[in-house]
Amino acid sequence: MKAIAITPGKADSARLIQMPAPHSSASEVLVRTLSIGVCGTDAELAGGFIGRPPEGEDSLVLGHESIGLVVEPGTRTKEVKRGDLVVAMVRRPDDCPACRAGDADLCSKGEYTERGIFGAHGFLAEYYADQESFLVKIPPALSEVGILLEPASVVVKALRHAGRIQQRMAWTPKRALVLGAGTVGLLAAFLLRLRGLNVDVYSREPKTSARVALLKQAGAHYHTALGSTTYDFVCEATGSPQVLAQGMERMAYNGIMAWLGVCAQQEPIPVPLGALNNRIVQHNQVMFGSVNANRCDFEQGVQDLHDIENRWPGLLSSMITRRVPFAQFAEALERQPEDIKVLIDVSAP
Ligand code: BGC
Repeated sequence: MKAIAITPGKADSARLIQMPAPHSSASEVLVRTLSIGVCGTDAELAGGFIGRPPEGEDSLVLGHESIGLVVEPGTRTKEVKRGDLVVAMVRRPDDCPACRAGDADLCSKGEYTERGIFGAHGFLAEYYADQESFLVKIPPALSEVGILLEPASVVVKALRHAGRIQQRMAWTPKRALVLGAGTVGLLAAFLLRLRGLNVDVYSREPKTSARVALLKQAGAHYHTALGSTTYDFVCEATGSPQVLAQGMERMAYNGIMAWLGVCAQQEPIPVPLGALNNRIVQHNQVMFGSVNANRCDFEQGVQDLHDIENRWPGLLSSMITRRVPFAQFAEALERQPEDIKVLIDVSAP
């Protein structure tokens, strides 16, 4: 079968390869890939900055945001049936206690693999096989937007964790600030609006950008400068150390801030740590990092995508700004100014 692979560590190495097609087995389901979403992590992979091939191999098949169609369930699989639409989870566990408890997203050893990113082939291939426990069923009504489930699950997890951490008090969050208007920032804004919060989004796109129109549709407010308002919840989704530092100053009393972006820039930047310390201590503030997502976040994400579709019809599909055929995958890896979510269509439904 055809697949798109890179040589991790080597810039611009993405290429079409041929590899043996996988099979279903007792525990593994065979899935035909329909579409793959491209994100910032893929850009880092294609640029040679991150990534690891499976043990003993040189190439890594890309693709971790997926939607596919079950062609052959395993002989011992229970829930998934032929013809089901599925999204695959990304991370595969190691043998640490968290992973063994089903929480690979909270792995404490770091020997996990992530399909299409670290040590395991991704889904940017005509077919893939995986265990049923890593596949999440997508109702037919979400066939167009189910591809957004993986990035949505990352936000759902962060919101769930924020809620759990804030069980330290009677927390009734009203105002949220989202930093960044990429896919994660937009989804964060929509999910927070869905949960009834007033949402401000701060990013550098001009106010005429299509992203801003989507935010408006969901009732979020867009800003290109940060004012002096403080927020119960701050969600960082830019990966810019400068924005991160500004965001820390925007937490309200007892506020909480989720760090979702990964900074490429490693050089130190000046941060007024003393002043920050005074506020963080005296206002009982919390900051936490969050990566990947649990199965429960994917399942909650299906419900959330459904609710977003009902409340703001067409909003999610408007995030998909470009679709590229499989053979032209290279075009999808080149970012264009108006891109929000770019898909590679691997096969027709
Ligand atoms: C993916 C996560 C993954 C993270 C780190 C993100 O792009 O959405 O599932 O854990 O990259 O590799």
